[in-house]
Amino acid sequence: MTKYVNQCPTCGGEVIEKEVTEVLSGGVNTAFVTVKVGVCQHCGERLYTPDTVRKFEEIETKLKRQETSNFRALGKSFQVSAFE
Ligand SMILES: [Zn+2]
Repeated sequence: MTKYVNQCPTCGGEVIEKEVTEVLSGGVNTAFVTVKVGVCQHCGERLYTPDTVRKFEEIETKLKRQETSNFRALGKSFQVSAFE
């Protein structure tokens, strides 16, 4: 599962596994996804495994199609116009 490169492809820095929260959106919906990624200690570059990328695409498609019944709702999003 963990198939990160040990060295950052951008700067050659050391890559460690970290748990981060990514914000994904599809259509009008947004999801906060907690995921383990490789993070470069030097430049902060995030490295994803193909599995993670596929999972992100899956979630974005579900968001787009409003198939969010399996997602836990955190709150509502509002669109507010500040113009009167
Ligand atoms: Zn780097």
